[in-house]
Amino acid sequence: MARAITEGGWQSVPKLCFPGGALIGCSAGFVNVPRIKGSHNAVMSGMLAADAAHEALEAGRANDELTAYEQGWRGSEIGADLKPVRNVKPLWSKLGAALGVGLGGLDMWTNSLFGFSFFGTLKHGKPDFATLKPLAEVTPIVYPKPDGKISFDKLSSVFLSNTNHEEDQPCHLVLKDPTIPISKNLPAYGEPARLYCPAGVYEVVNDEAGKPRFVINAQNCVHCKTCDIKDPAQNINWTTPEGGGGPNYQYM
Ligand code: SF4
Repeated sequence: MARAITEGGWQSVPKLCFPGGALIGCSAGFVNVPRIKGSHNAVMSGMLAADAAHEALEAGRANDELTAYEQGWRGSEIGADLKPVRNVKPLWSKLGAALGVGLGGLDMWTNSLFGFSFFGTLKHGKPDFATLKPLAEVTPIVYPKPDGKISFDKLSSVFLSNTNHEEDQPCHLVLKDPTIPISKNLPAYGEPARLYCPAGVYEVVNDEAGKPRFVINAQNCVHCKTCDIKDPAQNINWTTPEGGGGPNYQYM
């Protein structure tokens, strides 16, 4: 399984509760980006949600929202973990790795030692899909071919994940407009889905007349959701596949 990391942190956590359920862990966006760690907060958010559910059941409540969880996480260990690092990603995105990460480190330091930030709480700016530069402004990176010893091709790694989808089900990767990959994304961005997808799901192939065609090998999808987030035209909708298909979740 692969996963796009939800990097928004403290200032981007969405509404967590809905009748009968709650978002916890990485679904809620509780990863600590500078530490590249989130499992501690995932466990803690599960505990907070469970406490709130227990309280609700004891009070005879049902089918409503676990507001105690929603209202409590910022004052919990999760909040104490995420608040001091909240400006690292916005600074990094705006100012680049050297200056941005340096200032982010300084900001974490003042937050942790004095509970104070020179920056307040910074916004993230643009959504991810709007950060892509057109092909004309970049030099494509040429990666060395995988050697099969310490680097591997995408499809060998997909094979190891035991990813499987019933082949006769409708494609769970739905294009709002099927013409956009070739008519807009290919000339403007070199159709980035074929590059960022970790499972090689998307391909641009030439037909017999030499015309490019967009191909979706949906059975290889490892459910990272990157395409839904990153497509510059916001044209790809990841939907839940039928029958529990995907990476071999049960045996992870
Ligand atoms: S198709 Fe989308 S969700 Fe599936 S592996 Fe590729 S980028 Fe991830």
